[in-house]
Amino acid sequence: MNAVNQEANKAVIVGAGPAGLTAAYELARHGERVVVLESDSEYVGGISRTVHYHGYRFDIGGHRFFSKSREVEDLWTEILGADMLQRPRSSKIYYGGRFYAYPLKPFEALSKLGIFESVLCVLSFAAARLHPTRNPQSLEDWVVNQFGRRLFRIFFKTYTEKVWGLSCKEISAEWAAQRIKGLSLGTAIKNALLPNKSSNDRTNVVKTLIDTFRYPRLGPGMMWEACAKKVRSMGGEVLLGRSVVSCRFDEASNGWAIKASTSDARIEEFRGEHLISSMPIRQLVKQIEPTLPENTLRAGNALRYREFLTVGLILRERNRFQDNWIYIHDPSVRVGRVQNYKSWSPEMVPDPNYCCYGLEYFCFEGDGLWSKPDAELIALAKNELEQIQLAVAADVIDGCVIRQRKAYPVYDDGYKRHVQIIREALETHCRNLHLVGRNGMHKYNNQDHAMMTALLAARNVLAGEQKYDVWAVNEDGEYHESGEAGEQAANDGIKVAATPAGS
Ligand SMILES: Cc1cc2nc3c(=O)[nH]c(=O)nc-3n(C[C@H](O)[C@H](O)[C@H](O)COP(=O)(O)OP(=O)(O)OC[C@H]3O[C@@H](n4cnc5c(N)ncnc54)[C@H](O)[C@@H]3O)c2cc1C
Repeated sequence: MNAVNQEANKAVIVGAGPAGLTAAYELARHGERVVVLESDSEYVGGISRTVHYHGYRFDIGGHRFFSKSREVEDLWTEILGADMLQRPRSSKIYYGGRFYAYPLKPFEALSKLGIFESVLCVLSFAAARLHPTRNPQSLEDWVVNQFGRRLFRIFFKTYTEKVWGLSCKEISAEWAAQRIKGLSLGTAIKNALLPNKSSNDRTNVVKTLIDTFRYPRLGPGMMWEACAKKVRSMGGEVLLGRSVVSCRFDEASNGWAIKASTSDARIEEFRGEHLISSMPIRQLVKQIEPTLPENTLRAGNALRYREFLTVGLILRERNRFQDNWIYIHDPSVRVGRVQNYKSWSPEMVPDPNYCCYGLEYFCFEGDGLWSKPDAELIALAKNELEQIQLAVAADVIDGCVIRQRKAYPVYDDGYKRHVQIIREALETHCRNLHLVGRNGMHKYNNQDHAMMTALLAARNVLAGEQKYDVWAVNEDGEYHESGEAGEQAANDGIKVAATPAGS
């Protein structure tokens, strides 16, 4: 074993995604010594990285930078300044051979569906309003209550089941309430008919409908590369190609000893007073020494994830579509969404005569799709792109495949109980351990939330006490609040989302 980092750090941070780097940035700017360990040997940014292929840039999913927290927005500006673009949002749904504007424009949608289907949709909406499912538990019940069963089948069911690989009956209503919160048919109609509200009015925007967003000139990875550079310039270390394999709390030194394996199979040890972890909880609980109780290990093993792969295609530019992305609700193809990266930022392509698309497939690690050879996936994507009328296969000149493990923490029936068991065990058995971020807390959230949890954890480290309850940061921070409290939260940014412990 090669002990490279004998000196104790204020914190060892696992993961150089948005959460890990935000924590490092906050601690480093307060003069604390930190080391960030990242398993990827090439990129920082985690799921928010930008992959390069022959000068073309691919985002893992298309990352809008939008937060109701002024503090997070300001942090993005502080890190990237003028490299942050304000971009228009344009997206569509493909279903049954037709493209529908998304957010849905009710009159356009009804005219494309045809008079017969439209009448059935309106009747089923009326039926759902008259006889809603009381206390909806599943995503299906929640959406049917909001939109009616027929619209649910057309505009929610297939896509959601592609994403999760689960029936909408098995997915918790909480997911729907969080991700499409505030979006009722009434809101959709109002948004379709009334002029757009300024998207700068952050207190009142329904998240799913935001019509502009910020985006780094060279993709989201640019933000995290710049952040890592700033951490290093303040004396912090960001080490790539270091996969953390064990985390031991050492009573003698009252600190953490973290082992990481390097890309060339050496083991290095790092020491820190605190451990801030953004690695998936399932991994972390197995790594902690002394070993956690059996029921905690079982709870960790029970947490599930959904994987994501992008087939990146480079094509001759024929201006077939200018949207940022198109949801593919059509059940005749496996692709779930198509990204057009040049619409996110023109600098995502090195040559304006070409464009690059990302065909997104949702899968489980080890299933047929995940383990298909790249050449077969590229052939599948080319065929499907032609089938949904977005290009002719002959225009595709090159392609690559980007696999993302654990892209989505799954909210199944048991996840809350399992996370609770783990939290209690960690609080009982582990001192100075801070869980942050998306998989780090098993919370299905965006960058802004991941960053907020990291900022608060860093502030707890600086304060030397649990000043903030990081778990009280809601999946959507202020978005989760409603009514007066919600507006207050949106105005106050961190204050309400970040409830001080015990209050
Ligand atoms: C398809 C898709 C679209 C999205 N769109 C948006 C969007 O539009 N806007 C938005 O704000 N957010 C979006 N997100 C969410 C965003 O990607 C995440 O919220 C964010 O990346 C979470 O940051 P994190 O640091 O918590 O986790 P991650 O990004 O997952 O980073 C964790 C890091 O830890 C590293 N790691 C894991 N285990 C170890 C280990 N044992 N040792 C060392 N390193 C380890 C990983 O390699 C990774 O780099 C999207 C996500 C997906 C999947």
